[in-house]
Amino acid sequence: MSPKKIKVGIIGGGNGGMAVLDIFKDEPDIEVAGIADINLNAKAMKFAQSSGIPVTDDYRLLAQDDLQIIINVTGSEELDGEIQRIKRPETELIGGRCIWIFRKLLEELKRQAGTDGLTGAYNRVKFNEIIKLEMGRARRYQRPLSISIFDIDDFKRVNDTFGHNAGDSVLISISDIVRKHIRETSYLFRWGGEEFVLLLPEADLEGALTQAERIRQEIAELVFAQADSVTASFGLAQYRENDTADSFLKRADEAMYKAKSGGKNRVVADDRLNPAGAALSKCSC
Ligand code: GH3
Ligand code: MG
Ligand code: MG
Repeated sequence: MSPKKIKVGIIGGGNGGMAVLDIFKDEPDIEVAGIADINLNAKAMKFAQSSGIPVTDDYRLLAQDDLQIIINVTGSEELDGEIQRIKRPETELIGGRCIWIFRKLLEELKRQAGTDGLTGAYNRVKFNEIIKLEMGRARRYQRPLSISIFDIDDFKRVNDTFGHNAGDSVLISISDIVRKHIRETSYLFRWGGEEFVLLLPEADLEGALTQAERIRQEIAELVFAQADSVTASFGLAQYRENDTADSFLKRADEAMYKAKSGGKNRVVADDRLNPAGAALSKCSC
């Protein structure tokens, strides 16, 4: 006889709910019996619906269900109190500070695993590992290697106007667009909030420039479902034999800042490899 599944209810359909669903989806002994949020269109609610998990906009329904555990990821201690009052005595409640610690642990596990939980892009820990290998390979076999750093323009406005969840969706969509444009041997890293790094083995500056321009254009033309449109600024550099990881990145970063100060929504390449001495740059204007 197979052991009985642990029935869990989740309260909160935003990023927290999504993080919990993400952990439980591959756990054979756990059944998510339902998820509650007043916003039925929240990210985790939609995901739950598409996976056949019951959703409700009335959290009290979950508190009365036949659940062993209720997880309140809304961060509201007030709601914890309310659930404590109405839940069955056998049901455990994880909420408030406990869930905050739980999420930190999850983030740490993801960080150690090398990927960013939101976009699935690699993280900086992974970058430090990969950059050494790829620089070694480029040096040994005299092969080109380029870096493309890009930062979403005026991203604060997206959050301020459409909300943080919409901002998150834009970050996910942009990562998906980029992955579509890069070779299987290239790497996408989430560098910080709305800044990404592409590491492009076998790409010289011209190749990286052509690719960055295609990505820039596709991002600029897209109208996002949850927000309007956004643009991004790109800075590129090609690896030089005496580069360290820091000097290589720094040249790309400086080029990206030139793209920002030049008016954003453009691609600027580090000019120190360009024999003509002029910055290679492209923009939509
Ligand atoms: P600039 O064109 O100069 O890059 O302007 P900006 O508004 O993009 O840059 P700024 O550094 O002022 O703001 C970045 C914003 O990105 C602020 C921060 O809240 C947001 N952000 C960072 N990480 C995330 C995230 O994971 N999700 C969401 N939704 N927003 C994030
Ligand atoms: Mg930005
Ligand atoms: Mg930034």
